Amino acid sequence: MAPNTTAASKEAECVGESADGAPATAVASQAAPEAPRRVWVDKYNYTGKEIIWLNTIAIVLFHVLTVVLTLYVIRDITVLTGLWSVFVGLAGGFGVTGGVHRMWTHRSYQATFPMRVLLMLCFATSGQNSIFDWVRDHRVHHKYSESDADPHDVRRGFFFSHVGWLMMRKHPEVRRRGAVVDMSDILQDPVAAFQIKYHLPLKILMCLVIPVGVPVLLWGENFFVSFVLLGMARYMFGLNFTWLVNSAAHMFGNKPFDNRIASAENRIVSVVAMGEGWHNYHHVFPWDYKAAELPDTNLTLHILHFFKRIGWAYEFKSASQSLVECVTKRYGDGSHPKYGCATPEIPIEALDNPEIVDRLYGDEVEEAKEKCA
Ligand SMILES: [Zn+2]
Ligand SMILES: [Zn+2]
Repeated sequence: MAPNTTAASKEAECVGESADGAPATAVASQAAPEAPRRVWVDKYNYTGKEIIWLNTIAIVLFHVLTVVLTLYVIRDITVLTGLWSVFVGLAGGFGVTGGVHRMWTHRSYQATFPMRVLLMLCFATSGQNSIFDWVRDHRVHHKYSESDADPHDVRRGFFFSHVGWLMMRKHPEVRRRGAVVDMSDILQDPVAAFQIKYHLPLKILMCLVIPVGVPVLLWGENFFVSFVLLGMARYMFGLNFTWLVNSAAHMFGNKPFDNRIASAENRIVSVVAMGEGWHNYHHVFPWDYKAAELPDTNLTLHILHFFKRIGWAYEFKSASQSLVECVTKRYGDGSHPKYGCATPEIPIEALDNPEIVDRLYGDEVEEAKEKCA
């Protein structure tokens, strides 16, 4: 679908621009010159379609049971247990978005030791893979998006990119590329190494025992209700919200920053995935800690700002506005409210679209209108 478009190549094309806090050379090192991208016509040319039946049955059974049992206990859920499940869900979500994604995978900011411990525990609460597997898969996903080497290649459809990829053996190209991706920084981090070593017991403790046990022990919640809501429903929603980034945010939405890639800007995904739905921006500027151009619908960003204030998170990297402007004018689909008008086929009327304007603030709207008039 797309030529090899990395943030680094854009960086090089926009002479004189650089990501704030990220030297051009450091950014350039993220380039993937030999990415094995294929065109859409090849999309089903794949021979390794073995289904892992154990995973498939487990995932399907888990979802069916969770829906049925949640409906069964839904009237018995107390306000306190409901609030607790939201809190646990947000903690697990932040472990994924602010932890394993923006910090460990992309190194978009630095975190102190206590912060990394907190992120690791939050991530364990989400009940996902080990930090090693998660980071490796996601680095490969960014480097080889929409190719055979992409673990959740969206060219193979919504279901595959959402959850189907977890039910099948990896494409040989995914394994080959994943085996050589640089993971030295993860292995050298003692906090990440601890989680990798004790992944399963940590998962049982943080994703099941504590979330289910707290309502039972502290305010006398019925064990079965707590188990279904915290151990099953909260877990199921958390997983699916994360998966939506790989599926929906690679299929539905506009592409103001680079029209040549599948990832798109998707507000709904951003709401449920705590700010990870601004996925067109994120794939163009993956080192940016915001994972979005603007702070809107980006809960992770606001939580990170809190930790920045107390000194637990620092050295935040972000794309400069001039770099964003340059890349957007060159590759965007024209839907960017401020720079989109640079594309001739996009009329200024786009600025009157409340959905688009909603993403801008104050004077920027008027400035953009004057500029395009
Ligand atoms: Zn993606
Ligand atoms: Zn990413």
